[in-house]
Amino acid sequence: MSMGATSMDVLVSLSKRRGFVFQSSEIYGGTGSCWDYGPLGVELKNNIKRVWWRDFVQQRADMVGIDASILMHPTVWKASGHLDHFTDPMVDCRECKRRFRADHVDALPWTHYCAATKGNKFTIPAGEACGHCGLRRTLCPECGKGELTAPRQFNLMFKTFMGPVEEDAAVTYLRPETAQAMFVNFDNVLQSMRLKLPFGIAQAGRSFRNEITPGNFIFRTREFEQMEIEFFVNPNDRVDGRPADEYWHDRWIEDCMAWFLRYGLAADNLRLREHEKDELAHYAKRTVDIEYKFPIGWSELMGIANRTDFDLKQHSKWSGKSLTYFDDERKEHVVPFVVEPAAGVDRALLAFMADAYREEEVRGEKRVVLKLHPELAPIKVAVLPLLKKRDDIVRTAHAIRADLAKQWRVVYDDTAAIGRLYRRQDEVGTPYCVTVDVQTVGDSERGETGDQRVTIRERNSMEQARVPIAELALVIRELLDGAPWPQVAGRYPSPRS
Ligand SMILES: [Zn+2]
Ligand SMILES: [Zn+2]
Repeated sequence: MSMGATSMDVLVSLSKRRGFVFQSSEIYGGTGSCWDYGPLGVELKNNIKRVWWRDFVQQRADMVGIDASILMHPTVWKASGHLDHFTDPMVDCRECKRRFRADHVDALPWTHYCAATKGNKFTIPAGEACGHCGLRRTLCPECGKGELTAPRQFNLMFKTFMGPVEEDAAVTYLRPETAQAMFVNFDNVLQSMRLKLPFGIAQAGRSFRNEITPGNFIFRTREFEQMEIEFFVNPNDRVDGRPADEYWHDRWIEDCMAWFLRYGLAADNLRLREHEKDELAHYAKRTVDIEYKFPIGWSELMGIANRTDFDLKQHSKWSGKSLTYFDDERKEHVVPFVVEPAAGVDRALLAFMADAYREEEVRGEKRVVLKLHPELAPIKVAVLPLLKKRDDIVRTAHAIRADLAKQWRVVYDDTAAIGRLYRRQDEVGTPYCVTVDVQTVGDSERGETGDQRVTIRERNSMEQARVPIAELALVIRELLDGAPWPQVAGRYPSPRS
């Protein structure tokens, strides 16, 4: 199967079968568009966040991180514009009470009880008229019976109450984006860290949007995780002869694209999409999306927006606090511009899985393999005993697992024959398997001590090398740090066939 052709059904099924993603509250029939990350999913997700944080926060001298609370002062959402503008126009069915986006309702197939055919029920394609009576849809497309209300603006923020009293004064919201916390903490971070422009504030965390039509597995959900950066620049500075905000916007587009390529997304499945003038948020100077060819088609993987000085000015206005930066050279206070690279963790995870999924034929048999980048792979090493009835082999395998597990997620598995065990690890993307066999431990009854070497098998090539147990951790470290397999394996003998 070629890249980009992985279907969503295949990913959903693999995710459930192998413990990546489960439907939330499944035993109660599930919760709409909520998903739970299972034992392997949580590792994959943590790895994505960890490498993002390492590459964009730890390794950069111009970046710091925060971890803000999800509940914020309600005025934050007034200042940010979310209270007034973060809305979709909705219509409700008076009969079945279903709710639809007013601008999407004509794009749905509709249910029709046709008077011209004694009230027979038909499902008619979106936008088409009934072939028998010629009527077009006016009623609820789902039940075909109820009238729809006039459109009403529906805010996408989850509303809740602070404290025990459900009254208007206690109303607050679950944050619909992590970004606002970076703006309201701008001065705290600036003063405490003594930063100079340009610098960024990064945060990874949960956000909530009461989407009317979520769906497509973990692509669009009501509760999701974001990795966002607000990169502040001095609008009066010029870099390479260009305004600093424009220069940094391009730099961030390049850096984000390079990041997805580095962790394994195929270049053919990535593209940039410039927002048209009429789809730009009113405060945005320019926005570019990185799109990925998901199983549902080209869709947004992340967005990189130039939000100008809109957010800092708004929060300054509503809070009455000055949110400026003192430009030492020009001896003046300026409101920085901000470039915002914003990525969704769940979407990134879906893209990495879709891109890594392969079905290959190996010696006449189908092999499913997730060719995940080793740094993202949920399990780094699986330690497998060749004979589970030999105590010395099992003991050695357990000891190796315990030793490697000081550094990585490592599993031990003896529940099937070796071929099966390899296939299971391939399917979840484990880059290296280590097998312990008779040669490793020798035969104590005959006074043999064994060669104290194990076989490492590399997932993609399925090639193997015999490595001394004493060197194993170093070899794994070298491989995970990016050393090519042939170069490392070349130093060791192949297993005896
Ligand atoms: Zn209805
Ligand atoms: Zn009809």
